[in-house]
Amino acid sequence: MSELVKVENLKKYFPFKEGIFSRKVRYLKAVDGVTFSMEKGETLALVGETGSGKTTTGRTMLRLYEPTDGKIYFEGKDITKIPLRKFKKTRVQMQMIYQDPYSSLNPRMSIFNIIAEPLRELKYGNLEEKVLSLLESVGLRKEHMYKYPDEISGGQQQRVAIARALGVNPKFLVLDEPTSALDVSVQAQILNLLENLQKEKGFTYLFISHDLSVVRYISQRVAIMYLGKIMEIGSVEQIFESPQHPYTKLLLQSVPIPDPKDKKKRKKLILPGEIPSPLNPPSGCPFHTRCPYAKEICKEKEPEYVEVERGHLVKCHFAEVIK
Ligand code: SF4
Repeated sequence: MSELVKVENLKKYFPFKEGIFSRKVRYLKAVDGVTFSMEKGETLALVGETGSGKTTTGRTMLRLYEPTDGKIYFEGKDITKIPLRKFKKTRVQMQMIYQDPYSSLNPRMSIFNIIAEPLRELKYGNLEEKVLSLLESVGLRKEHMYKYPDEISGGQQQRVAIARALGVNPKFLVLDEPTSALDVSVQAQILNLLENLQKEKGFTYLFISHDLSVVRYISQRVAIMYLGKIMEIGSVEQIFESPQHPYTKLLLQSVPIPDPKDKKKRKKLILPGEIPSPLNPPSGCPFHTRCPYAKEICKEKEPEYVEVERGHLVKCHFAEVIK
């Protein structure tokens, strides 16, 4: 396998004024120095609680948000250096699938037009034939072509969103909680569809999720995010069988990890304590306010990454000590 995407020290800060008349600008550090790479054809899951910065990381990688700092490489090229007006050609190879399919589809357009729209921009030839083949590749039929989003089910809407993204032949897809807004009965079907499409077309997925059972099922590697930083990254086996970071351990303890196809047992991520505000993150280790192992040094000094095994990185002063 070879590398398709890489981010280096990626940052996305949002300016924030304390009041209408205040001149003081503070920064919400949604993504604060994230580094990882992805091989062609692999699925890397970004996991964390709400507010951990996982969606902002995905959006910034596609330059839907302009990065505050850092580099984003796609096929070896730093895409942050491409002027936005010339970015379209690269952008079509990097698509995003959203959590709520209904809000990502224009309700006034037919399914045909929703899927055909990006193809028209690419001046694609026989649209009817192409739209039909895209619909079939996501398990829909000709009869869906002239319906509107509110005339089909949530699962079918997500299939349409996937078909629209596939039409432009992307290589990299950011899947932002693609099954969490769906009825439990169709979640496994969409996961299977995504898996089959990956096998067939060699897609690389960044899979954003808080559902650990789904993550374990679909990904090869996992990155655990907290307050805009990656706390631990490794293979699915390393993270689930041998977690080293106290935050990862807590995440895994807080939910049972059932079979993702067992719809009734799936649970949301609930952890003791509140995630601090990214407007006012803790000093030192960002996790020290909730960490049961925190020592004095944790409040003062931000830990570096320790490679505990090949490809298994942990951001903790006591990575190899805490058992
Ligand atoms: Fe806990 Fe300290 Fe490790 Fe942070 S550095 S995770 S506070 S032990």
